[in-house]
Amino acid sequence: MVLAGQAALVTGANSGIGKAVALGLGASGADVVVNYVTNPESAEEVAHRIEASGRRALAIKADVSREEDVQAMFAKAINHFGTLHICVNNAGLQRDAPLLDMTLKQWNEVISVNLTGQFLCAREAVREFKTRGVVREVSAAAGKLVFMSSVHQEIPWAGHVNYAASKGGVMQLMRSIAQEVAPLAIRANAIAPGAIRTPINKSAWETPAAYKELMTLVPYKRIGEPEDIAQAVAWLVSDAADYVTGATFFVDGGMTLFPGFTTGG
Ligand code: NAD
Repeated sequence: MVLAGQAALVTGANSGIGKAVALGLGASGADVVVNYVTNPESAEEVAHRIEASGRRALAIKADVSREEDVQAMFAKAINHFGTLHICVNNAGLQRDAPLLDMTLKQWNEVISVNLTGQFLCAREAVREFKTRGVVREVSAAAGKLVFMSSVHQEIPWAGHVNYAASKGGVMQLMRSIAQEVAPLAIRANAIAPGAIRTPINKSAWETPAAYKELMTLVPYKRIGEPEDIAQAVAWLVSDAADYVTGATFFVDGGMTLFPGFTTGG
C-alpha cells in the first residue's frame, strides 16, 4: 500500500500493459483513472476490479492525441479525485509498413498518439503537480510521470520507422521534461519494454514457431508479461525511487544486450 492516498491516471488502460499497470497501481493503494479510447466495457471491467480491491477508480474516454480530449479528461479526473499524483503515459499503437509503402497517414497516426499524446498528457499532469506542490505525508515528490517507451528507442526497426521514431522521441521528451521539472520536485522516467505478451504484438508470440523465432532475440528466454512492466512502474512512482529521475528503465529480458553476439560476433 505504498501508494495509499495517491491518485494515478493511466492512458490506454483497458488492454495489455496499461491494464496491468492500472491494476498494479490499484494494488499498491492508489486510486486510478482508467483512460480508454475504444471498448468502454473493458475499461469498466478494469475500473470494477480496482474498486473490488477497495480503491476508487474512474474510466474516462479520451483520445490522447487530441488536445481538447486530454484537457477534458484531466479536468474530470482532478474534479473527481481532488488532484493527481501519478501520470503513466502508456497509450500507443503501431501502423507498420516498409518505408516506401508508408503513407503520411500511417506516419502521422503513430507520431500523434505515441509522441504528441505523451506530450499533451505530461503537460496537463505537470500543471496540476506544480499547482499543488509537495504534500510530504502523501509523497516526497509533487508528482511522478512515467513514459512508456520501448526497446526501439534504442534498437532501429526496419519496417516500423514511424514507431521507432516515436519512441526515440519519447526518450528525449522524457529527459527534457525531467530536466525542466526536477526543481519543482516532479520526477519523470521511462520504461522501455522488450517483447511483452499483449495484443499489439500477437503475431510475434501466438504460434510456437513465432515464439521460437522471438526467443532468438531474448537472452532470458521467455516473453515478458504485462505484470513485469506493472511491477517496474509501481516501484518507479513510489518514494523508494525518489532519487530517480530522467532514467529509462529497460525491462526486456536482455533484448538490448545484442543477442546476436551471444555466440561470437
Ligand atoms: P495494446 O494494444 O494492448 O494497448 C494499447 C492501448 O493504447 C490500448 O488500450 C489502446 O486502446 C490505447 N490507445 C491507442 N490509441 C489511443 C488513443 N489515441 N488514445 C487513448 N488510448 C489509445 O498494446 P500494449 O502492448 O499494451 O502497448 C502499451 C504501450 O507499451 C504502448 O505505448 C507500446 O508502444 C508499448 N510497448 C509495448 C511492447 C510490447 O511488446 N507489448 C513493447 C514495447 C513498448
